[in-house]
Amino acid sequence: MCTVIWLILLATVIDRSFIAGRGLDDVRGLLVTMAVLLLVRGACGWLGERWADAASGRLRSRVRSELVAHVFAVGPAGLSGERTGEVSATIGAGVEALHGYVTRFITTAAIGVLGPTIVFGVVLVADPWSSLILAFTGPMLVLLLAVIGGRTRALTKRRFDELGWLSAFYLDMIRGLGTLKAFRRSADGADTIADVSRRYGDATMDVLRTAFQTSLVMEWAATAATALVAVEVSFRLVHGDLSFGTALAVLVLVPEFFVPFRRLALEYHSGHAGRAALERIDDLLALPALAPATSRPGGGSVAGSGTGSGGGGGRPPTIELVDVGFTYPGSGAPSLDGLDLSIAAGETVALVGPSGAGKTTVSRLLMRFAEPSSGRILIDGGPLGDVDPAAWRQRIAWVPQDPTLIAGTVAQNIRLGDPGAADDRVRAAAEAARAVGFIEALPDGFATVLGERGLRLSGGQRQRLAIARAALRDAPVVVLDEFTAHLDHQTEAELIDAIAELLAGRTALVIAHRPRTLRLADRVVTLERGRVAP
Ligand code: ADP
Repeated sequence: MCTVIWLILLATVIDRSFIAGRGLDDVRGLLVTMAVLLLVRGACGWLGERWADAASGRLRSRVRSELVAHVFAVGPAGLSGERTGEVSATIGAGVEALHGYVTRFITTAAIGVLGPTIVFGVVLVADPWSSLILAFTGPMLVLLLAVIGGRTRALTKRRFDELGWLSAFYLDMIRGLGTLKAFRRSADGADTIADVSRRYGDATMDVLRTAFQTSLVMEWAATAATALVAVEVSFRLVHGDLSFGTALAVLVLVPEFFVPFRRLALEYHSGHAGRAALERIDDLLALPALAPATSRPGGGSVAGSGTGSGGGGGRPPTIELVDVGFTYPGSGAPSLDGLDLSIAAGETVALVGPSGAGKTTVSRLLMRFAEPSSGRILIDGGPLGDVDPAAWRQRIAWVPQDPTLIAGTVAQNIRLGDPGAADDRVRAAAEAARAVGFIEALPDGFATVLGERGLRLSGGQRQRLAIARAALRDAPVVVLDEFTAHLDHQTEAELIDAIAELLAGRTALVIAHRPRTLRLADRVVTLERGRVAP
């Protein structure tokens, strides 16, 4: 609007001072108004940009929090079939792509409607003939943009998919580096990455090329349309049908009519990138939330511990699975099918069976990362579904197959079991897990920093820290998925001792991979295709 008024004033100033020859004094007021308008426009632009940036920042952080909250609600069971790299690409780069979409594309699109309408209105009043040309060329440019835009859309979506693949491959390769090297497959890994990177690069170049072509075509079309108006106006000016002032106003205004279209062509691909990202975000949000909501948000791990001593000791409960069935969303076949399994109070049951039999699924249901599709799980005879998931998990010491170390010290890692525990209890837990020996050999003992940026531990050491966590929690139920990797004899013997101590006096479900662990169990149950083998 500012620009339109400014251009009309400019035309008037030129007309009066130079053509009518009235000198600058006559137009001083207009010049001041023009200067003020320039300032106002600059300030509006600056404020608008800041506002858009701030709004986009808030929007992105909200979308990210919502995505992360949803990922938590989906839980480990619901997410285990997703490619982690793709999920993190969506939360990272995907949400970032929304920035260009909100700050540039949507505003440009809004101006794209408003700007030409205002200019068209003014030209219509000043010179209806010229507005006729605009009325034809404007819609044609929109049509052109829509036709070329269809191609950009497909390309941008492909580029985003490739980015997801690329992230997923990187993550898989880095995780499986050991395997790749051991089987002399690192060259294959590098080849795959090179291949996916090349495809991503090609997709990016295709998008940029199309974006460039779109801009070029739009520039040409806009210039041609402006030239058409210029020719028409000049003819009528020469024939004396048009005053110079009006002709000049039309001539300076017409390019403004096309500016929003040209900008839109430039921002078109950021619009599509944003839309492709939105689609992925929608897909992620559409994953069913398998983990039941906790009644106390955040779990309140310290408050939940109740008694001062960690998980609150407590009496080991009985656990019964009655005719339990479970089917993963989107999977045709049930993973558990009429499973009956009961564990007496204080009993250790070892679960064995071929891969894919459903052992991990049983532990996921027990951890309440998902709810059974059919059947019931009873704790001391009462439905598990009635217990708050966070309070229930507080009663479980969970030792996963591949324990995650958080970035922090050894002591902090053990304290995950019971955040309020004093140093002597942390040490006692480490002793129970037979971990003190190796911890003291670390550069800073219990204060050694571990995790992504810290010291790396061996598989056996990680498992012992996980057992220390569980020991510190002192919970009445243990769910343990045993480490499968090869361990040396000494480490294995120490681990078995630590596990034996952890299981004693607790109700425990152990997914056992080692024969020596089986000997610790009171009972061994074999699973086969989602039910207890006869
Ligand atoms: P196990 O631990 O005994 O190897 P699982 O409990 O992991 O077995 O798997 C049981 C079955 O459920 C398998 O057929 C597996 O393919 C399927 N399954 C496991 N996780 C998922 C998932 N996230 N989505 C779909 N199917 C799954």
